[in-house]
Amino acid sequence: MATTTSYNPYNNVELQTYKNHTKQEVSDLIDKADKRFYSWRETSYSERKKLMLAAAAELKKNTREYAEMMSLEMGKPISQAIGEVEKCAWVCEFYAENAEKQLQDEVVQTDAFKSYVSYEPLGIVLAVMPWNYPFWQVFRFAAPALMAGNIGLLKHASNVFGSALNIEKVFKRAGFPENCFTTLLIGSKDVKEVLENEKVKAVTLTGSGPAGASVASIAGENIKKSVLELGGNNALIVMKDADIDKAVATCVQARFQNTGQSCIAGKRLIIDESISEEFVEKMVIKVRELKSGDPMDEKTYVGTLAREDLAKDLEKQVNASLKSGAKLAIGGNRQGAYYEPTILTNVSQKMTVFEEETFGPVLSVTTFKTVEEAVEMSNNSEFGLGVSIFSKNIEAAEKLAFQFDEGAVFINELVKSDPRLPFGGIKKSGYGRELSQHGIHEFVNRKTIFIN
Ligand code: NAP
Repeated sequence: MATTTSYNPYNNVELQTYKNHTKQEVSDLIDKADKRFYSWRETSYSERKKLMLAAAAELKKNTREYAEMMSLEMGKPISQAIGEVEKCAWVCEFYAENAEKQLQDEVVQTDAFKSYVSYEPLGIVLAVMPWNYPFWQVFRFAAPALMAGNIGLLKHASNVFGSALNIEKVFKRAGFPENCFTTLLIGSKDVKEVLENEKVKAVTLTGSGPAGASVASIAGENIKKSVLELGGNNALIVMKDADIDKAVATCVQARFQNTGQSCIAGKRLIIDESISEEFVEKMVIKVRELKSGDPMDEKTYVGTLAREDLAKDLEKQVNASLKSGAKLAIGGNRQGAYYEPTILTNVSQKMTVFEEETFGPVLSVTTFKTVEEAVEMSNNSEFGLGVSIFSKNIEAAEKLAFQFDEGAVFINELVKSDPRLPFGGIKKSGYGRELSQHGIHEFVNRKTIFIN
């Protein structure tokens, strides 16, 4: 019998051992979910809205319970975990209020007596999700999927099965009918069989490139729709006319919140040579003030990485770059799963920390002389999730936006997700969009109705 054990990365204490679902159990759960689809799709938007608002209320009522599990399982500082649960309530409320409008029939004038597009649910959508935002990544999929009349099937990362079961609990407590949302306790090797099941109609994956490529190819072989939200190596571009103090504060948050484990974190600081020294000095002061420690302590800002092997990978990336000539402005040490907030200066485009995604609290600093050079450096990445530009000349910055190969350009702000705006990448960051009306339209059948 396969089992999965979770550990607290802060102190290595064993948390719980979960019995994985067997193949038969998975197959039975998919059958039940499929059966549920045919009654769920008949429910009115007002019924779904009532339930989704109840889910939001449940998240607000038991925020602490859900947040603590995340902090224990993957080392996220508790105050940030609480913020994450609250954001999930927001996305539930957003889709509860807007889904009906977003999916209303679209009348098209043709030579028909009447013709229109009707947006209909597809059925069971599989969500393969990562541990870095154990709640948010799932809710930003589940809220629009359920409101559209789809059924959610979750395969969460193996280190956050407690949170995965808690998410199922949120929907149960909110009063959703049984099997509208199901958590499967399975490993990544079991995903293929689930996706090949004819009752599963589509898949969304948030995670690494190799996982995305594997799942998308299985979906492709089975002619099923997929959405991929993969890695990122966002640049933070600071122009010489930027408001330095504000930009410093935003860049620190962009890189170090969630202990740097975010796809949209600003990982490469690309800064005008003439202000680089002053900027880095100010950043170092701010980074020194960030409190590291027990993720369960309200004052902790930097927790541990989710697993020790991830901290070791990060250490290797930093050491390789130091060997190639990068300089440590602060940090650079590891203790178990904890990696110190680190800033590396003198980074060239050939170094590991520039070329590869660093999934932890490490910022690389590279300088530029001209704006053209800054754009080129930013685009010199296999990823294309987002970029931040800091400048007082908003008009010039906005004109530049077009030149970036990215899913998002944020001016004087860190790249962040917002239920009202589409979220997603290009290049190796994936395809498709989540959130906003674009997200809810990913998993629907755009049915043409033509009446003469
Ligand atoms: P990961 O190893 O790809 O895991 C993500 C999920 O995929 C987990 O549930 C994992 O299950 C599963 N998985 C892994 N390999 C698989 C395979 N071959 N077939 C099917 N499923 C597979 O990613 P991670 O290390 O948890 O997360 C970090 C990565 O995710 C980073 O690259 C980050 O940038 C990216 N990310 C992207 C976004 C975005 O919105 N674009 C957001 C967050 C994170 P197991 O745990 O059982 O292996």
